[in-house]
Order: sequence, then C-alpha cells, then structure tokens
Amino acid sequence: MDFTGKRVVVTGAGKGIGRATALMLAKRGATVVALTRSQADLDTLKAEAGCEGIAVDLADAEATREAARRALPADLLVNCAGTTELQSFLDVTVEAFDLLHAVNTRAPMIVAQEYARETLGRGAKGAIVNVSSVAAFVGIPDHAAYCASKAGLDGLTRVMAKELAPKGIRVNGVHPTVTLTPMAVKAWSDPVKAAGMMGRIPVGRFADPDDVAEVILFLLSDEAAMVNGLSMPIDGGYMIA
Ligand code: NDP
Repeated sequence: MDFTGKRVVVTGAGKGIGRATALMLAKRGATVVALTRSQADLDTLKAEAGCEGIAVDLADAEATREAARRALPADLLVNCAGTTELQSFLDVTVEAFDLLHAVNTRAPMIVAQEYARETLGRGAKGAIVNVSSVAAFVGIPDHAAYCASKAGLDGLTRVMAKELAPKGIRVNGVHPTVTLTPMAVKAWSDPVKAAGMMGRIPVGRFADPDDVAEVILFLLSDEAAMVNGLSMPIDGGYMIA
C-alpha cells in the first residue's frame, strides 16, 4: 500500500498504536499530521519521520475542534487517541466516565465532523478509521467506563458509515485485543489477569502496535474501496474463543 501524496491526520500519534500508524504511513509516503497531547512526542515524530504536529488536549471539545480545523485539509483520518481508568462498575466515578467519553467517543466525533465537512465541501472523497477495542464487544471487569465509551464509538462509526459513504467517505472501526503499548502496561500489568486474557487468544500472544497499524492502513487504502461500516477485530481469534 502506497500513500504517496496523501495527507493523513492521526490522533494519539504520540505513543503506542497511533505512533506505529503514523510512522508506517510516513514510511509508505504519506504526510502525517499528528494530533496528540505531549509536545515531546510531536518533536520526536518530526525528527524521526517528518510528521507535522499539533499539541492538543482531546478532552477539551473546543480545543479539539480548533486543532482539527488547523490540521485540515487531509485525505484520510485515523481517530486513535484513547485513554482508560481502571475502576470496577461499583466504583466508577462521574469524572472518569466523563473523561473517557470525552477522549474516546466525543473527540473522534468532533475531529471526524470537521474532516468530513472540509472534505465533502471541496468535493473530495476519503476514509476514516476509528480505533475501538474488543472492549466494545465484551464486558471486561474494571473497564466499565472504557467499554461504554468504545461501544459508543462503534455506534458513531455505524451511523457515519451509513451517512458518509454515499457522499464518498468510507468509515470503519478496528477492535484490537491487548496491544503492547503504554496503555496496556497500565491495564494489564497484573500477570494473573494478563494470563487469563492471553489464554483466550488462540494465536497465543498479545498484539504488537504494527499488527494493528497494518490493518488500519489497509482500511484507509483504495484496496479497501468496498469495505464500509466494518467492526474489524484484531484479536488473534479472542472473539471466537
Ligand atoms: P497509549 O496510551 O499507548 O497512547 C495513547 C496516545 O493517545 C498517546 O499519544 C496519548 O498522549 C494520546 N492521548 C491520550 N489522551 C489524550 C488527550 N486527552 N489528548 C490528546 N492526546 C491524548 O494508547 P494505545 O496506543 O494503547 O491505544 C491507542 C488506541 O487503541 C486507544 O484508542 C485505545 O483505547 C485503543 N486500544 C488499545 C489497546 C491496548 O491494549 N493498548 C487495546 C484495544 C484498543 P499522551 O501520552 O501525551 O497523553
């Protein structure tokens, strides 16, 4: 897949899956515009791969809209930024619930709205990939707010796919299992919990960020021209186990 001449906005490109996606896109010819929180990550992305960057807190709706507008025009969009808090259902706080929905669900909506308006406004076509999680499909203990925020994102993906594809923008979701990133360290460092999860993955390992990035690039590419509204597990078979 060659992305030469394509300009791609990637949120959460500072670390983990977003960073792997940004670097892979840049290696395959794209100009990447990274929207992420830490300036230090933007600096290293620029040094490593020439990525453009905008520092923004995606929990802030107005700042998110403003950053998205600055990042445009773009050919393609990857909504990858996400965050989590480990709280059992009985302990979920309103603050954590609101934060996770702001970053994991509302920010992708805002960035995609701006991207779609601008793209359609100039008569262009495009594609969006929203990074969800297997947590949107199953209940994972201590992930109540996270599961809800990702299931909400999937609802958006389906509506976007129905409304935007007739106008020329395909929209798909990817649903990774545990992927070896800083977020996974936060959520899965308990070896007993990790072993239980790993035991349900038939391929016998957690995902690497590049495993996820490869699928994101496929869904962005013209090779996936007939793929729209997909919820694509990247889970080594976890969902059938
Ligand atoms: P990481 O925590 O490794 O990286 C997340 C990136 O998003 C960081 O660059 C982070 O910036 C940025 N980010 C987080 N919150 C904000 C914010 N409020 N404003 C701006 N940027 C922000 O996460 P992963 O790479 O693991 O996860 C990427 C996506 O994949 C997420 O949507 C996650 O839910 C999903 N996912 C991850 C899985 C996993 O096991 N890792 C499994 C399934 C799905 P900073 O560090 O500066 O805060």
